[in-house]
Formats: sequence, structure tokens, C-alpha cells
Amino acid sequence: MSEGALLLGAHMSVAGGLHLAFHRAVLAGCQAMQIFTRNANRWEAKPLGDEEIAAFASSRSASGITCVLAHDSYLINLASPDPEKWQRSIDAFVLELERCSALSIPQLVMHPGAHMGQGEVAGIARLHEAFRLVLDRAPQDVEILIENTAGQGSYLGASFEQLAAILEDLPPDRFGICFDSCHAFAAGYDFRSEEQYAELISHIEASVGLERIRAFHLNDSLKDLGSGLDRHEHIGRGRIGGEGFASLMGDRRFDGVPKILETPKGQDGEMDRVNLELLRQLAARAR
Ligand code: MN
Ligand code: MN
Ligand code: ZN
Repeated sequence: MSEGALLLGAHMSVAGGLHLAFHRAVLAGCQAMQIFTRNANRWEAKPLGDEEIAAFASSRSASGITCVLAHDSYLINLASPDPEKWQRSIDAFVLELERCSALSIPQLVMHPGAHMGQGEVAGIARLHEAFRLVLDRAPQDVEILIENTAGQGSYLGASFEQLAAILEDLPPDRFGICFDSCHAFAAGYDFRSEEQYAELISHIEASVGLERIRAFHLNDSLKDLGSGLDRHEHIGRGRIGGEGFASLMGDRRFDGVPKILETPKGQDGEMDRVNLELLRQLAARAR
């Protein structure tokens, strides 16, 4: 098995400049990485400069990291019932896609948003309408990956049936799923044994379809199965534990699909190295 087939990596800080993330990713031993292309907690974003784009491209080729994903801002809610927030979210999301396109980042991970009390059906309708407007305006070369969620509050996307309903009528070449292991577990999907893992994957196959899984977030969970709480823990040290990750890492159907850590970094990012090494061991053991 080649290292490339695993496409393992982590979310990396862009502090000091977007291009600096590549250096950090190499030090952590990543083959893939995820970044925010802007401050995720603010609406405003400084436009990308030509120099910034060029520095990103040259750091990328020097790093050897070919697989780069972006994650959108936490403020965006494309399912919002509030017309002003909804429009602001659409504008911000189009901007996210434009930034990805300018940086040649082919995939943007996003949260499907929260219905804020209007109910699931109305929330999904709102989201669909937003996506329609987004597709009219945004560049065509960036795939949108909807992340499954932990089921907190009125957030959409905690069940694969609902994600399937969201994906219905959305073009398969533009929309996929990013599977977050912590979120799935917190939402009540148990995959701690091989049998449970196999069941979960057949459930995903029957609902959204396995070909729709285009990225993974690999996080263990600090909180219990079905807690609805989104708290990430180091791989193997949370409530999921090593075995659940062993099944996933051993699943050849997901070779070549990027697998990204969003776990605590520790001193100088040392924990990324530890978590990635453990995932590699689990993969090797299962093959
Ligand atoms: Mn996320
Ligand atoms: Mn995630
Ligand atoms: Zn999370």
C-alpha cells in the first residue's frame, strides 16, 4: 500500500499567512490538509492578493502536499429563516467558493446550517434555495462537501437519511459528504465494533451512497454515543476508541479519500504526529 492511498492529514493553522499552513502540515507528517481561507469567526475577509495566491501555489508545490481542502466560516447558515442572515450567508458562501477557486482548492467542507425552530422540512427547503442561488453565482470548479453534524440544537445533517434528502436533486459532481467520525458517534451512530462499522457503512450506502463520501474528518469523541455534543478527542483516547478507527482505516473502499484530523494539537502540534502515526498503524494492521 502506498502512503498516498491513505491521504492522511490535519486541519492546519494559517496564522501569519495562508501559505504557512503547508510548512506546518509537512512537519506534522501530513499528505493532505484542511484550512480556513479566512477568519472563520468573522463576516469580513480581506480580499486575496496576487502575491498571496502565488505564495500559496509555490509553498504547495514545494511541500508535496497535493490534497488541500477548505472549511467554511462558522457564521454561515444557509438554512436560516432570517432573510438578512440568509442573504449574508449566501454572499459569504459564494466568497468562500471564489477563494477556493482562486487558490485551486477543489473541495469546500460546510455545515448544512440550523433551521432555528422553523422545522427540518422548512430548513432543508431554505438550504436548497440557497444552494440554487449559490450555484448561479459561484465558480464551477469547487466541490461542496456537506458535513454530518452531532445533532446539537436545530442543526441539520445529524442523520444520513436527512443528508440524503438534502443531497437529493443536488448535482453529484458538485455536492458530496464529509463524514466526521466524532459527529456521527455523538449523533448516535455506533461503529466501535467491526460489525457495527459494517452496518453503519451499509446504512450510508443505502441512504446517501458511498460514492458521495468525498472526505473524512477523523476525530475521537470526548462525549458519549448519542450525546449530541461535539467535543473532539485524540484518536483512540475518546469514547470511540481505536477499534472503530481500525475498521475505517482498513476499509479499502475509502483509499484515496482524504482523511483529516481536527483533534487538539498539543505543544507545537506534536499531537498531530501522534494521532497520524496511530492511524497509519491501524491502517497497516488491517491490511
Ligand atoms: Mn466542521
Ligand atoms: Mn469536522
Ligand atoms: Zn466537530
